[in-house]
Amino acid sequence: MSQPLRNLIVVGQGAAGLAAALAAAEIAHARGRPIAVTLTDKAVETQAGGNTRWSPSYMRMASPTHMEPTFVDDMRTATKFQGDEAYFARLAAEAPSTIAWVASHNIQFIQPTYYLAQGPPRIQPSGGGPAIIKNLARAARQAGVAFRHDCAAREIVIDNGRITGLAVEQHGAREILPADSVVLACGGFQGHGEMMGAHFGDRAKTMRLISPGSHFNSGDGIRMAMQLGADLSGDWNGMHAESIDARSKNSAPVVLVYPYGIVVNKNGQRFFDEGSGQVHETWEWFARDIHFNAPSSIAYAILDSRLFEIADYQRAIRSEVPPIRANTLVEMAELIGVPVSNLAMTVATYNAACLGDANSFDATRCDGLAAAPTLWPPKSNWARAISMPPFLAYPLVGAVAYTFGGVATDSRARVMCNGAPIPGLFAAGEITGHFYATAPNAVSMLRALVFGRIAGHEAVENLRPR
Ligand SMILES: Cc1cc2nc3c(=O)[nH]c(=O)nc-3n(C[C@H](O)[C@H](O)[C@H](O)COP(=O)(O)OP(=O)(O)OC[C@H]3O[C@@H](n4cnc5c(N)ncnc54)[C@H](O)[C@@H]3O)c2cc1C
Repeated sequence: MSQPLRNLIVVGQGAAGLAAALAAAEIAHARGRPIAVTLTDKAVETQAGGNTRWSPSYMRMASPTHMEPTFVDDMRTATKFQGDEAYFARLAAEAPSTIAWVASHNIQFIQPTYYLAQGPPRIQPSGGGPAIIKNLARAARQAGVAFRHDCAAREIVIDNGRITGLAVEQHGAREILPADSVVLACGGFQGHGEMMGAHFGDRAKTMRLISPGSHFNSGDGIRMAMQLGADLSGDWNGMHAESIDARSKNSAPVVLVYPYGIVVNKNGQRFFDEGSGQVHETWEWFARDIHFNAPSSIAYAILDSRLFEIADYQRAIRSEVPPIRANTLVEMAELIGVPVSNLAMTVATYNAACLGDANSFDATRCDGLAAAPTLWPPKSNWARAISMPPFLAYPLVGAVAYTFGGVATDSRARVMCNGAPIPGLFAAGEITGHFYATAPNAVSMLRALVFGRIAGHEAVENLRPR
């Protein structure tokens, strides 16, 4: 007797959703299971892909075939020991085979250079996130996945404790698609002003989104899962943010040369240790500090012409707008609108504390060139006087990339309710809450792919013939 057709719906066409849909279609086909896989995204086709579409997609691996041996410990440390060890262990175990699988769909991986700092080793798909979207979507179509764009998931329909459908909205009309299993892969809640305000305070409502794709991630999947009683997890006061050029219209126009100069607020005063670590260790909290604590949520990185002597300094600036230039600090203060005397005093105080040997300056590592301990806030590395005109300034604002709070999943990507899996419901990527404190560098994309693929496999397993 032939098996009845079963329906799996994946919500979201980013890395996690594409990996889930493709993996599900492939394994269903390989096992001769009649499972129809549909991927629905609220964006039109040319914009679907959320954050993935705009992400360079650095992934924290020693090489495409190897994880760093310290990966799981590093994740535990990054999450201040609140992260689920089993989840990160599964991530490490499955990453090499997942990358090989992604590569088999016509995506090449390279070992890229990274801004100016060294940091943990990483790999990157050639062509970044757009290459992931393009090639995995093509492969998914070839594998039989049906795509619905401009079609927002609204509610998971349950009957007798079993998933029976997914309510979606397209062009203002509501429809219930039959579904036996659902994979939620529709991102965090950075694009939802009210949710941002509720978790981070009112000022979060006006925080800039780092990419044009980020606003699609408006917590819909989290709310749908919560309606089914899903457990929540992750740090609800956690978000990944970076400092970007306030003037730029580009996606993610980061300015990551601030450790080599100083940063002042609108009053012309320094407010943090610009050199306390490499940029990927300081950017998140610095960006948050600018947005939530600095007057008018703006700051200015102040440098001098020695920036141009740093090899490849352009790698650390992704703004299309050149820095503001001035021949004197007075002129600079007037151009950026900070009190002249305050900026002059701040730079003079800082310069007087730069007593180390400027020849030991090394932009690529924490060079130990600290300012005198009398300086407050301190400057722990890269402390060179700002004295060689032209002086340069970049106005900076904090921009959110993604949030950490989300649904609780286990290491099989199953969404949990009171510690037990909700039958037929899976989730992967940003929607899942596994990050705490600080975003572990270059892990968000990797875990989207790895747990997306796991979710696709598990969803098919879950649809065993009855
Ligand atoms: C500029 C930038 C740089 C980054 N750099 C890196 C990096 O180098 N390394 C790294 O690890 N991470 C990086 N990240 C983060 C990483 O890219 C994301 O966390 C990851 O791509 C998330 O993938 P995802 O599939 O979970 O979500 P997304 O890729 O955001 O996809 C979510 C999808 O869900 C859709 N959706 C939302 N709601 C609904 C709904 N109700 N119905 C249907 N569809 C819906 C959206 O339209 C979207 O297509 C970066 C992010 C940005 C923005």
